[in-house]
Amino acid sequence: MKTSLFLVVFLMTFFIKAQSQTVEKLLNVKPDVYFADRDSAYADPYYGLKKLIYGNKRFAENKSISPRQSEADLKNNELGQKPFATIIGCADSRVPNEIIFDQGVGDLFITRTAGQVMAKASYGTIEYGTVALGTKLIVVLGHESCGAVDAAMKLPDNPPGHVVTLINAIKPAALKAKAAQLNDKEELDLAVRSNVIEQVALLRNL
Ligand SMILES: [Zn+2]
Repeated sequence: MKTSLFLVVFLMTFFIKAQSQTVEKLLNVKPDVYFADRDSAYADPYYGLKKLIYGNKRFAENKSISPRQSEADLKNNELGQKPFATIIGCADSRVPNEIIFDQGVGDLFITRTAGQVMAKASYGTIEYGTVALGTKLIVVLGHESCGAVDAAMKLPDNPPGHVVTLINAIKPAALKAKAAQLNDKEELDLAVRSNVIEQVALLRNL
């Protein structure tokens, strides 16, 4: 789980191709230089992304520093918040955002639902992060072995209660992955990635 997070990033002013090139470049960081300045991360989404990727590398290599969690940091947060990234992530208990990105209190503005399926309240949350808090980086975060995506892959006829909302939202990605005729793991990985890409496209077209 540690090394297999899928990051697809929505930067306000970049196209998808440029985004993936940026992510690839940042993933090739040299060992032991996994740090990015907090103020720069808030001011510029490129450095924000860098900060997340470096933090995830620290976490994956058991080198987490758990920043900005001291008593003084908590006191400082009473004055207000300036999170450097908005994250739309899955509710999966194994993907706690501050821990996997090795960030602290006041760093991340997060909305989480199963399969990171978005609704109007999610959009309002994202807009609040951008408009009121000045956060410039928006990340849609999928992850390996996502139970919500796996459930959608089974194309259930009558999902219980409101679970149907999740299944229906993920279904286009599930159908796309099934059409690719891969083995089970590759199929699920493709569905997870396709689901993130669909959600980024939805956000871009709001
Ligand atoms: Zn999940």
